[in-house]
Amino acid sequence: MKKKLVIAIDGPAGAGKSTIAKIVATELKYIYIDTGAMYRALTWKALETGTSFQKPDDLTRLARKTRLTFRPKNGVFHVLADGKDVTAMIRSQQVTSMTNTLAAVQGVRRVLRDLQRQMGRRGGVVMEGRDIGTAVFPNADLKFYLDASPMERARRRYRELRAKNERVSLRAIAEAIRKRDFKDRTRGISPLRVADDAIVVDSTRLTLDQVARVILEKALQSE
Ligand code: C5P
Repeated sequence: MKKKLVIAIDGPAGAGKSTIAKIVATELKYIYIDTGAMYRALTWKALETGTSFQKPDDLTRLARKTRLTFRPKNGVFHVLADGKDVTAMIRSQQVTSMTNTLAAVQGVRRVLRDLQRQMGRRGGVVMEGRDIGTAVFPNADLKFYLDASPMERARRRYRELRAKNERVSLRAIAEAIRKRDFKDRTRGISPLRVADDAIVVDSTRLTLDQVARVILEKALQSE
């Protein structure tokens, strides 16, 4: 019997985590879990309900009572908050810019960490985020930290948004990514950092497919 692994993929915004994690999960027939989408869904819910981002206890209460469910559909990780499909809404600029405020709240992180552990307890998952290898699954079978130069990450995001016909400037995206990374790396609880036993992959000069191959090779050796 093959071992069903827990594969953790962490890294800053725009490093290609989602695309790569999806390729790896599909090839291994594992479940793909986008933990950023969970933080985003709670942020959407907080905005929708007028919950103050200045009140950690209110945000924690919201995290406890919101029922998050997930459904893979045509290669997309669909997120439902209290039964409402919010997959498209959670990618708005407003949600993107507010998520790391909510993600810095300890109570919120506890709720999502428990949910993520529950989802990965039987293995057979590729989970991507910021703290998967350091806080959620410190004993994950395989940990990767994906990185790329800030300019390359901004370019990737720019191409993604342009493909969706959004009017954006490369400079504004680079600045937004820089701010987001800074906040994620310097927050007091579960900041973005490289786990001691993570394999660091710099994808600046690699295609996302090439990076996925690196991860798949390691996974096939470990199963
Ligand atoms: O991965 P994505 O860009 O969708 O994540 C959005 C935000 O959610 C991140 O900037 C970060 O603040 C937060 N996040 C987190 N921990 C995770 C995943 C995401 O704090 N495991």
